[in-house]
Amino acid sequence: MGRKQRRNKPGGAASEPPPTPAATRRRPSLRLGLVVAVVAAVAAAAAMATGLLPAGVKREAGLSVLLVSIDTLRADALGAYGRQGADTPWIDRLASEGVLFETVRAHSVVTLPSHSNLLSGRLPLEHGVRDNTGFRFPKDVPTLATLLKERGYRTGAFVSAFVLDSRFGLDRGFDVYDDLLGGAEARAEFHVPERRGGLTVAAASSWLAAQGEGPRFLFLHLYEPHFPYEPREPQRTRFAAEPYHGEVSAVDAALAPLFGRILDGPEKERWLVVLTSDHGESLGEHAEMTHGIFAYEASLRVPLILHAPGLLRPRVVTTPAGHVDLLPTVLDALGLPAPDGLSGRSLWPLAFGKRAAPVPAYFEALSSSLNRGWAPLRGVVDGGLKYVDLPLPELYDLEQDPSEASNLVARRPADLDRLRERLARFRERDGVSRVAEEAEALERLRALGYVASAASHMKERYGEADDPKNLVEIDTRIRDVVSRYRSGDLQGAIALCEENIRERPEMPVSYLHLAYLQRGLGNLKQAVAAARRSFELRPLDAEALSLYAVYLTEAGQPAEAVKVTGPYATGREPDLDVLTARGMALARLGRFDTALATFETARAVDPSNASTLVNVGTVHLMAGARDPARRAFEAALAVDPGIARAHNSLGVMAMTEGRSDEAVLRWKRAVELDPRDYQTLYNLGATLRRLSRATEAQQYLEAYLREAPLALEARDMERVRAWLGRRS
Ligand SMILES: [Zn+2]
Repeated sequence: MGRKQRRNKPGGAASEPPPTPAATRRRPSLRLGLVVAVVAAVAAAAAMATGLLPAGVKREAGLSVLLVSIDTLRADALGAYGRQGADTPWIDRLASEGVLFETVRAHSVVTLPSHSNLLSGRLPLEHGVRDNTGFRFPKDVPTLATLLKERGYRTGAFVSAFVLDSRFGLDRGFDVYDDLLGGAEARAEFHVPERRGGLTVAAASSWLAAQGEGPRFLFLHLYEPHFPYEPREPQRTRFAAEPYHGEVSAVDAALAPLFGRILDGPEKERWLVVLTSDHGESLGEHAEMTHGIFAYEASLRVPLILHAPGLLRPRVVTTPAGHVDLLPTVLDALGLPAPDGLSGRSLWPLAFGKRAAPVPAYFEALSSSLNRGWAPLRGVVDGGLKYVDLPLPELYDLEQDPSEASNLVARRPADLDRLRERLARFRERDGVSRVAEEAEALERLRALGYVASAASHMKERYGEADDPKNLVEIDTRIRDVVSRYRSGDLQGAIALCEENIRERPEMPVSYLHLAYLQRGLGNLKQAVAAARRSFELRPLDAEALSLYAVYLTEAGQPAEAVKVTGPYATGREPDLDVLTARGMALARLGRFDTALATFETARAVDPSNASTLVNVGTVHLMAGARDPARRAFEAALAVDPGIARAHNSLGVMAMTEGRSDEAVLRWKRAVELDPRDYQTLYNLGATLRRLSRATEAQQYLEAYLREAPLALEARDMERVRAWLGRRS
């Protein structure tokens, strides 16, 4: 189920100082763009004066490509885009030596859809990935990875957050798709498991070093600027008042070893480096703290820098562009044809100073419609105007009013009509849908008595009360639920959840949170009830269903869990979490063969998932088949040496086979990898105590008491307290 963050040790590449003074030359912010623009203009004027034509567009087959996507990075957080006091020397250098696009917009404001856009060159309404959960990138849509792979490129992807796990389908075309975040075991409530940038960069660098000659495509995703903003030193102190900007600085530092190698290496002219982000961050603008609800410029604007010293001269491009332009641009740079029917266009000629008229750009923010039942947000930018289609529609003149403060809907009816018509034309392409498959699954659920009416919470019409602008207060409370949970105030978090439920009773996410919190307090029955309500409100949501099934099994109702997951497990593309929940329930019922078959299906969905192998081993162990169990745990470690649960299980096997020293070593390794896994903490603490190593045991038993869920561990927790001489 899900994944848990591995606490990584400090040190490593991220903390290394930038290598050479020359490499870290920092340009004064903002002035960079202007200086380059002036130089380019002067050069163009001189060329015209002497009758020379501007240089033609150069292309080069077989260039290696590095695509860097920095999650949640606002363009204006970078020195190169004008931020005073930014500490982003490597990215600024990339911009000063390359081509900076001033105005680039994402089409989605959350991670998985946005990466689907930029890797495929298609809009969300074309590939169908609309949110981070519940969607999978389609198997038949080409991406930059599949296209370059066909051309003989060696392809590697290194991602830093669970949202881009290979199970979501973006791994196709990559020789290596490294989504190893370590740990990878228990579901991490209210938390997206992530990997530190320095570690992702190190993994990418060693892959690169092993590739030798020949064209390579390296996709690197870094996650630092995403909430929560918790930079380490030195950024933690330097940016104490602006931790988001500390994370931006930290991500730049994390890039240093790789950028140093490529930008200053002997092959620097054989590389095209593309740097962008998937979306920005609101940081309080329009009452939104992070991203995902609105699509104001704070979350829509992203950086885009192209760097190819063998081909490109420094330049700033002012023509607006979008993420869908990225794939055709890279293919164009390499002299390769783009697939037919793409929404984007090549920006490569613009990078050489050619002109092109701006084109309308589509955007959407559908997450809160999907998981909260709020009005869906869609819109279009055209000719400097931006239209946001909501029950309370918005129209802004971005040039006159870049902060989108003055809504022109009432004053510019003709423009409103024109942009609405533009949006309608985009929406004609909204063809990718899973309607048939969903209807079938719903029908089967109805037959089982679970769902009264199909997608009951999805409204046909939305009114002003459903407009996210009127619901930001609820969003603030949802955020407060998370921060109270993180600070240990579960009762306070539940009170806020219940307030939201009173105010807006049909938001699936409120019940999902309530379920986590009740389980945290040991109220398994209430947790099951809340998870069930969330699932009823959004019956096709894998997260709600798998949580409901897991809690049912924990509450001693595995047969019910098997029944409710049935309609999903047989679908065309069953969800990994649902299959895992089902497999666990089957194992609990003693139906080991069926459980193993279910985990086989899970392996087919995501072959590189080490957690599934641990689950396979666990089922074998439950069935008393020790050799296959050991093989499965070892296979899990071969896929992901950082998977703590495999070490824990091998420790358990060693212990039951009388090798207590090996068991203790295994468990210590597991705790190192995942200091919060209560099962390992218990095994280690209890065994050390039994081996008369009570002093050594104490820290693990105390950590166990901190981490164990009361709902499942009440009895053992009582015993451990007694061992430690504590009153309960
Ligand atoms: Zn993101």
